[in-house]
Amino acid sequence: MERVILIKYGELTTKKGNRNFFIQVLEQRIQEALQDVSFHIQKDLSRMLLFVKDADLEKAIEKLSCVFGIHAFTVATIVASQKDAILEEVYQLVKEESFKTFKVEVKRSDKKFPISSMEFARDLGAHLLKNLKEKKVDVHHPDLFISVEIREKQTFIYTHSYAGLGGYPVGVQGVGLLMLSGGIDSPVAGYLAQKRGIKLEAVYFEALPHTSIEAREKVISLARILAKYQNEIKLHVVPFTKIQEEIYKKGKKEYTITIMRRMMYRIMEALCKKQHAKCFINGESIGQVASQTLSSMEVINQVTSLPVIRPVACLDKLEIMEIARKIGTYETSILPYEDCCTVFVPKHPIINPTKEACMEIEDALDFEKILEEVIQNTFVIKVNSQKEKEFENLL
Ligand code: ATP
Ligand code: MG
Repeated sequence: MERVILIKYGELTTKKGNRNFFIQVLEQRIQEALQDVSFHIQKDLSRMLLFVKDADLEKAIEKLSCVFGIHAFTVATIVASQKDAILEEVYQLVKEESFKTFKVEVKRSDKKFPISSMEFARDLGAHLLKNLKEKKVDVHHPDLFISVEIREKQTFIYTHSYAGLGGYPVGVQGVGLLMLSGGIDSPVAGYLAQKRGIKLEAVYFEALPHTSIEAREKVISLARILAKYQNEIKLHVVPFTKIQEEIYKKGKKEYTITIMRRMMYRIMEALCKKQHAKCFINGESIGQVASQTLSSMEVINQVTSLPVIRPVACLDKLEIMEIARKIGTYETSILPYEDCCTVFVPKHPIINPTKEACMEIEDALDFEKILEEVIQNTFVIKVNSQKEKEFENLL
């Protein structure tokens, strides 16, 4: 049997001028998410209809729950637009449900159907009251809301609604590069950026041999979780060791992190240009560590003119952890592999760095050549939401 999934758009319905574009991108995201499901789509400006075989229904529901830009969806049973067929199907559908009160709503887009919506809703209600025991109609707060949509040939019947993720379809805002470390904050930042329609590519600064290959695998696992929301993520791995060693050798200890992050930002800016990304994103949260005081942020931010999006800037750690648990990154994030920042972290990092001091240290570094080399040697791993497919990419 075939069913239809009725998809209500999320916030995009408020964007009048862009609506067509948003719907088009949403359709692309749905096509990608449902690669393994056979279905066909009908769409208009207010919703999308996905016709799916019964056998694929569960998989489709699971995948649609990971698509941004969907406000809610319902699964409808399809019957022929004939009075008796509809009465019988509604009865069959609700007889196993547990409820005391119900309401029937009928919409008739096929005006050739001989009975008016109001009249048919009454007929349906009467039919259910007669055949089901101890049920009542409650038009204000029913336990069960039964919707019937009569179209020319087919009628859709549905009761339950699934919540979608909301937000904008990933990609409507173009591409942004996420600084993805193995920590708790940056995957959450990535997820929130995706929710606003940014398609992610991730960037991982690696400091082999000071960090392990397990640390890289942890970042790949986190990228894989984020890839659920956009199918595939390019992970740029930046070989950062040389620049870190140089800073560690020649810089002032308390400025190590500040200078290191200025270098990261410079590399991010270069990679954004290369990848046509409009912004970069990270998991900085105001005041969380020395490099995230407003004074530090100001000095670090001075090396780029791109917007730096910090989706978790104003959340506290507990709030960030709650989202991490919800999206399933938390368990991976707390695995105990070292990050390139933690390896070189000084005992007393400065919380009020100055631009002048940074420039003085950087003058002694001859960093431009090293940065060029680092950018040249950056390589990409394509991370797919399904691991098996990822291997194909690597071969
Ligand atoms: P997280 O939990 O996200 O790792 P954190 O609390 O450890 O954050 P920092 O280490 O100061 O904080 O890093 C702040 C942000 O800088 C991270 O959220 C991430 O976006 C980025 N970042 C830090 N280290 C790396 C790295 N090795 N590769 C890529 N991005 C990084
Ligand atoms: Mg970190």
